[in-house]
Amino acid sequence: MIVGAYEYRCFANKGKILRVIEVLKEYRKLAKIISNLQWEAFFKTGKFNKYLKLKSIHSNLSERWKQTCQWQVVSVLESFIGNIQNKFKEIVLNSNLNEETKQYLLAINKNKDWFNSDIKYDNEIKKLARKIFKHILSRWNLPSFKHINLHLDSKVAVVEENEKSRAFDRWIKLSTLEKGKPIFLPLQNNTYAEQLEGELLNFCQISVEKDTLIVKLIKKLKDKKKEYIPKTEKIALDVGLNPLFAVNTGDLFGRNFIDYLKKLDEKITKRISSLQKKGIKPSQDMKYVKLVKRLSNFLQNEINRYINRIVELYKPREIVIEKLDFRSPDLSKRMNRLLSNFGKRFINEKLNRLKEIYGIQIVEINPAYTSQTCSSCGYVDIKNRKNTQEFECKACGKKINAQVNGARNILARRSCKDVKIYYSKKQILQILIKRYLERLKGCNSAPLDIVRSNPYFKDYLDDFLNPAVVENKRL
Ligand SMILES: [Zn+2]
Repeated sequence: MIVGAYEYRCFANKGKILRVIEVLKEYRKLAKIISNLQWEAFFKTGKFNKYLKLKSIHSNLSERWKQTCQWQVVSVLESFIGNIQNKFKEIVLNSNLNEETKQYLLAINKNKDWFNSDIKYDNEIKKLARKIFKHILSRWNLPSFKHINLHLDSKVAVVEENEKSRAFDRWIKLSTLEKGKPIFLPLQNNTYAEQLEGELLNFCQISVEKDTLIVKLIKKLKDKKKEYIPKTEKIALDVGLNPLFAVNTGDLFGRNFIDYLKKLDEKITKRISSLQKKGIKPSQDMKYVKLVKRLSNFLQNEINRYINRIVELYKPREIVIEKLDFRSPDLSKRMNRLLSNFGKRFINEKLNRLKEIYGIQIVEINPAYTSQTCSSCGYVDIKNRKNTQEFECKACGKKINAQVNGARNILARRSCKDVKIYYSKKQILQILIKRYLERLKGCNSAPLDIVRSNPYFKDYLDDFLNPAVVENKRL
C-alpha cells in the first residue's frame, strides 16, 4: 500500500490546543508504560503483542486511547527490531563463525525467533543468538516515547468532512481526557493532497510545535503502475534555480522561480539582521519561522507541480538526475543553505513517489563537471560557463542554455560505464580530459591555444603534444 502523510492547516483556538497538549502529556506517559509491558512480553514469548490487556494500567486516558497507543507503541518497537535485525545480520556475516552456524543464526534472525522457546535449534545456537541480540540492544538506546506525536485511528479521532459551513473543509472529532466531551479541530484542505488520486484514511497525526497544532492526514494513493505506459525511454533533468528544471530535450520549467526566491531572501535577511541586533535567536522568532515555512511550502509546491508536468509531457521510463547541489551566487548564504536542505528533500520525496506510483526508475549520476563540459564536443573548461544561464564552448563555439547543456551531459553520463558515482572530482576530470584529447588527435584544426591556456589540461598536454617524450620516459 502506498500512503502519504499531508499537512492540513488546523484552526484550533487556544483552549482546544491546551486540551490537546494535556492529552499528549498523558499519552506519552502511557506509551512508556505500555512499552515496558511490551518488552516484558517480548523476552518471555519472543513477540510484541498489539492486543495485550491494559485494563490494569492507571491512566486518565480511556481504554480506547490505551488501545490506540498500544498500536503505535508496537509499530515503533517493530521498526526498532527491524534495525536490530539488520545489525544482527551484519555482525553474523562479518564473524569468524562456521558456515553452518551462520546459516542457523541468520534463519533465527530472519524469523525474529531470538526469544521464541518453541524453535528446535541446538541450545548453543539459541544462546548465541540471544547473546548477539542483547549485545546490540545494550549498545543502542531503546525507543523512549518521550517525544512521540499522536498517531491516531478512528477509535479516538474521527476525520469528517464539513458539509455545513464554508469556514473550513474538515474537522477531527477528538476524544479528550474528559469522557463524552470530544473537541472538534477545524481543518483546511491541503490542495496538493486533495488532487492526488486515492482516498483519505481515517487516520491522523497530531503534533505540537510552538503552541500550534500540526495535523497530518494519511492518504492511500492509487497505484498506477499497470496503467502507466512510458513513451520516452530516458530523460535527464538538470536542477537549478533559473530555471528550476531543464530537460535534455531543451525544455525549461520554472523560469521565474528565482524572482520569488530573491524577494523572500530580502525579507529573511532583513529579519535576521533585526533579530541579531536584538540578540534573539531566529528559531525563537515567529515571523522568521513563518517566512521559512513560506519558503518551504513554495519549494514543495513548485517542485511537485513541475515534476508532474514533466512526467505528463514525456512519460519517461527512467529519469536521470545528478546528485543535487542547489546554489546561487545571487542569493544569501542563509538562503542557499535553506534551499539546499529543503530542495533536496522535496525532490527526493517526489521522485520516490514517482517510483512507487508509476514504477519510473530514478537513476542518480555523479555530477562532477557536468556544468563545465560541452555536451556537443566534450571540451571541459570553467570558462565555458559564461554565467548561470549561458553556456558557450571555448573550443567548438556551441551556444546553449547552461542547464540544458547540463541535462545533456547528465543523460550521456548515464550510459558512460567508466564514470562511477563514487569517483572523486579529480578522477572524473582525468577521464574527461583524456577522452577529449583522444578525440583531438585525429583532428587537424585542433584549438590548441585554447587548450594550452586551460589549467585543467596542464598535466596532460605535454604527453599529448610530445608523444616522443612519453616514449622516452617509459624507456
Ligand atoms: Zn564544444
